[in-house]
Amino acid sequence: FNSVIHNFNAGPSILPREVFQQASEAILDFNNMGLSILEIGHRTDAFQSVMDEAQSLLKELMQLNDSKKVLFLHGGASTQFFQVPMNLLDDNATGAYLDCGTWGIKAIKEAKLFGNVNVVASSKDRNYSYIPRQYTIPDDAAYFHYTTNNTIEGTQVAGIPDTHVPLVADMSSDILSEEMDFNRFSLIYAGAQKNIGAAGVNIVVVDEAILGKVNRKLPTMMDYREHIKNGSMLNTPPVFAVYVCMLTLRWLKKQGGVAGIQKINDQKAGLLYSTLESLPMFRLPVPIEDRSKMNVVFTMPDVETEKEFLSVCKSNGMYGVKGHRSVGGFRISLYNALPLSSVEAITDLIKDFAQKKG
Ligand code: PMP
Repeated sequence: FNSVIHNFNAGPSILPREVFQQASEAILDFNNMGLSILEIGHRTDAFQSVMDEAQSLLKELMQLNDSKKVLFLHGGASTQFFQVPMNLLDDNATGAYLDCGTWGIKAIKEAKLFGNVNVVASSKDRNYSYIPRQYTIPDDAAYFHYTTNNTIEGTQVAGIPDTHVPLVADMSSDILSEEMDFNRFSLIYAGAQKNIGAAGVNIVVVDEAILGKVNRKLPTMMDYREHIKNGSMLNTPPVFAVYVCMLTLRWLKKQGGVAGIQKINDQKAGLLYSTLESLPMFRLPVPIEDRSKMNVVFTMPDVETEKEFLSVCKSNGMYGVKGHRSVGGFRISLYNALPLSSVEAITDLIKDFAQKKG
């Protein structure tokens, strides 16, 4: 029996222990009100202060300027695949997209429902195992959309593309994991269930200046301007998910914010990649410069050894190491809340396994 559990799930994924503790207390008695957070109105002062604090913490942690609006919306990052073009792409305008993996493909598919799509580069030729570098974003594109971190393929875009075209990014799997000039983006979206909090809410950071320019009529719930006007409370927000985000953001601030967590994230990814690289039995499909610090993807020479490794992980309390069903192999996710000690534990296990298989 192994009492220590290590959670490498890709999302929903590990959150800080203290967040689970505080969230469970709030289910029973929120702020000593004698009521659960699940049974109070979203327009009460008590919940309004949760929403306000979640928004202001995100603004502070991302160091956003005042033209950026922070929204907590429903529908997951997948809703943003179509809400973005609905709000930003006119019928005869063109959105530029980078085709770098499963989630980007879905974003491209949805954008085509609203306007023209120009796929400026793709890594499909090598199974989405790298990030293309040579491409041109046309000056007249309505925006340039890309996925900063490809959760399934284990690739991550280093730096911010150099363009005057408004930038739109799906940051679902690496938001708040390393320092970045978030103000360079006209719109950022991310599902909360990895680095921000609980599933059920996604965040959108949008520059008001890019809104209101398309000619089509927008359903109220799809119109970012309506959500801004109503402080993410156009309808009942996912109250508990927003509360868990607020707690997780408080925790992140205590870790020294994004700069603080980046130091630990660099250590975690450095340790895991160097261990895998030192052992010939493990294969890393992604070239060094494109490797994700959040999702480490690798394979082994044969299916039998992979099965064996998976069962060793399981019996040692290591969860969520199996690769996505579309790519196979293994994926170890290293989100913000995963402690360095878990990475040390799995690298020890990896070394041990390799030695025994010798
Ligand atoms: N984009 C990326 C990069 C993701 O990793 C995911 C989910 N893992 C999504 C979008 C889809 O998110 P959701 O399930 O919240 O719609």
